[in-house]
Amino acid sequence: MTTQYTMTINGQQVAADSHSEINNPSNGELVGLSPQASTAHLNDAVAAAEKAFQSWRFSSDDDRKAACHTMADILEANAGDLAVLLTKEQGKPLAGMGSNFELGGCIGWTRYTAEQSLEVKLLQDNEGGRIEQHRVPIGVVGSITPWNWPLMIAIWHVIPAIRTGNTVVIKPSPYTPLSTLKMIELISEAVPPGVLNCVAGGNELGAEITQHPAIGKVVFTGSIATGKKVMASASETLKAITLELGGNDPGIVLPDVDPKAMAEGIFWGSFINSGQTCGALKRLYVHDSIYDETCQALTDFAANVPMGDGMDENNVLGPLQNEMQFNKVKDLVEDAKAQGARILCGGEPTGQGYFYPITLVADIKDGTRLVDEEQFGPVLPIIRYSELSDAIASANGLEYGLDASVWSTDAEAAAKVAAQLEAGTVFINKHAEIAPHVPFGGIKCSGLGVEFGEEGLEAYTNIKIVNAAA
Ligand code: NAD
Repeated sequence: MTTQYTMTINGQQVAADSHSEINNPSNGELVGLSPQASTAHLNDAVAAAEKAFQSWRFSSDDDRKAACHTMADILEANAGDLAVLLTKEQGKPLAGMGSNFELGGCIGWTRYTAEQSLEVKLLQDNEGGRIEQHRVPIGVVGSITPWNWPLMIAIWHVIPAIRTGNTVVIKPSPYTPLSTLKMIELISEAVPPGVLNCVAGGNELGAEITQHPAIGKVVFTGSIATGKKVMASASETLKAITLELGGNDPGIVLPDVDPKAMAEGIFWGSFINSGQTCGALKRLYVHDSIYDETCQALTDFAANVPMGDGMDENNVLGPLQNEMQFNKVKDLVEDAKAQGARILCGGEPTGQGYFYPITLVADIKDGTRLVDEEQFGPVLPIIRYSELSDAIASANGLEYGLDASVWSTDAEAAAKVAAQLEAGTVFINKHAEIAPHVPFGGIKCSGLGVEFGEEGLEAYTNIKIVNAAA
């Protein structure tokens, strides 16, 4: 029997009147029915979160820390089932950097954030008075998430918000709502009713969140186009916002590199989650002197990477998550072919599901859509350069600014390039590595604000000054 999923509102499981079908992108099978929240459901969730905020905001730091650890315990106990559900609705394999890896990330981030705290800063204590800087919660946080790493991104939004005394209404992507609905149902048991709510629905539900007058902050992860709408809409009520948006990360390979030695690092920096990762390497600039060798080394490596149904643990890459993305990737590759680019491997999807083969594209230039636009799929354009200054100008030449990387055995040369790259993170000899203690965020059109680390936690608070006369 098909499972009809429910929403978490005020500690209760609430059914909707209508549902959407969620199908497995590997084989089209029905995975479950996702509730479609009405405006009344959203209002109920926000009202519950507002009410819960009145006591959760004054809960002790120890209680909030314990609640987050309880959530991590619940995640650990249910990781296997959640991973299977995630694989079925998102497509990513259980193995490799897939669903089990994502659940591991959820647990790790929750534990780390549980242990974080924001101390009161003493700014002045003298004959002029005593001035303290406190970090206080904002209120109800609206969280809007995408379909590529549904659970991990939900955790990145929810846990710091709750840890700092806020309450939350989260809305997952309409493409991958089921695993988030289930995860929130489970972990919301660790907090009083109303502290953590989850509603599901289409894009218009996201827009309603960004307009809602009782929501104090919106944390949004998704595309640049939607991010701009979120910012515009949130301005009406002057909400705090964190935006983690799209990337088109460049990597620059300097001539001193041994292509065989770095092929694996570049490959996984690019093809993690079949390229459906904001901070994946999406265009590779390689020096002329090692261009052919690099193309060959990457093609050789790619030949041994199994892609297929994620329930088969032999596979480490899965399909694209949805038809829209599949058509977009296909379109970009067809356009590159029409512009005369050379397909080193892949480039022709076959079979059922939204599988797009691992595709490496050579003899391609800036100005081609596959280079200039975020492909968000298992396709890497490899661009030849002769002058390093040109490669750096190309890397910086787009509206994106999430991550970038430089690949070299010469630490000094790499550092010089890193200093010139416009990005929130510059990696050296690696790409797409994140950690809970390291702030992560984009500049330019790739985002506003950071997640993780102390600064990421602070983003869920307002500064409150207590200024006492001596
Ligand atoms: P998307 O922008 O289409 O959707 C993201 C979420 O926004 C969904 O929940 C959607 O329902 C909601 N939404 C849509 N219209 C809305 C509106 N007008 N107001 C409010 N919410 C609305 O993005 P996507 O296709 O789900 O995700 C892929 C994109 O996300 C890629 O560009 C990727 O790079 C980016 N991304 C960025 C990060 C990061 O941390 N920087 C992480 C993951 C994904």
